[in-house]
Amino acid sequence: MLYNQVQDLKGTIRVYCRVRPFLQGQTNGQSTVDYIGENGNIMIVNPLKQGKDARKVFSFNKVFGPTVSQEQIYVDTQPLVRSVLDGFNVCIFAYGQTGSGKTYTMSGPDLNTKQTWGVNYRALSDLFQISKERADFVKYEVGVQMIEIYNEQVRDLLVMDGSNRRLDIRNNSQLNGLNVPDASWVPVSSTQDVLELMRTGQKNRAVGATALNERSSRSHSVLTIHVYGKELVSGSILKGCLHLVDLAGSERVDKSEAVGDRLKEAQHINKSLSALGDVISALAQKSAHIPYRNSKLTQVLQDSLGGHAKTLMFVHISPEVNSIGETVSTLKFAERVA
Ligand code: ADP
Ligand code: MG
Repeated sequence: MLYNQVQDLKGTIRVYCRVRPFLQGQTNGQSTVDYIGENGNIMIVNPLKQGKDARKVFSFNKVFGPTVSQEQIYVDTQPLVRSVLDGFNVCIFAYGQTGSGKTYTMSGPDLNTKQTWGVNYRALSDLFQISKERADFVKYEVGVQMIEIYNEQVRDLLVMDGSNRRLDIRNNSQLNGLNVPDASWVPVSSTQDVLELMRTGQKNRAVGATALNERSSRSHSVLTIHVYGKELVSGSILKGCLHLVDLAGSERVDKSEAVGDRLKEAQHINKSLSALGDVISALAQKSAHIPYRNSKLTQVLQDSLGGHAKTLMFVHISPEVNSIGETVSTLKFAERVA
């Protein structure tokens, strides 16, 4: 075990907050982020309120300001990722309103630019790198699955024929994190393999959607990396998996405006995000009953949440004044699970 230093994170929930910068043409000089402390504190200012109600401090494991690079973000994520090679199950979530930077953190703005790659490409190339370094001791195989949960239905994003069929979830500890056993499982051995799969995944995600962005903000995407290692001398087997989850946008939908499909989508998203919050906070409180059954998302991730698994939640906020309501509710959600 090379990465003993992360053992203490076992069973714990870490929460990192990331503030995205103002986007081009958007800057009006007013940010709702008043102050970011070294110790994981962030102070939010609500310009619509007066006096002591205008400012509120929230505390997390870490807070990353708008100038923090993708590389720096990965430095604080890497120990968790690497522990997968020692046989741990890890979940990394991106939470926040649409436009707050979830996909930026997980994937990056552009598949073709290595410098701005997000956590998922960095994690995979790191895993390949370490498994090469350990090749004299352990023989590793890495495979990925990519699914989408939309309106409480699970779909395979790696089907090559575009069939996009619905899949069942099976909860069985024997499966070791492979709870959607019928989703395509694709062996990968290089970052190039992964980039090709991501393109397939993105293409499939667009099937049936009017606009890619629209659909992707209303579904959860789960990239699962399975690692299977055989120790050459002892013959013992290590199994670990890493789930990288780009969640649906957490924004509240105005009930008076949403109708039909839009209302149904909003209800499903609401239900699954609160189910996730309930599971994580029950785990944090070491509650006897963990309500995994309340959503497809928590069922899919069941054996990678709690127990010996490790969880990291990135909560994203936008600095604009007109996002203040969502910013505060995002930070409240995050404080509940921290
Ligand atoms: P979400 O997935 O939460 O809807 P995106 O990741 O698509 O949000 O981000 C919205 C926009 O903001 C995109 O244009 C993205 O490139 C940009 N963006 C988000 N986070 C950052 C960041 N940390 N630095 C620079 N640009 C960012
Ligand atoms: Mg997104």
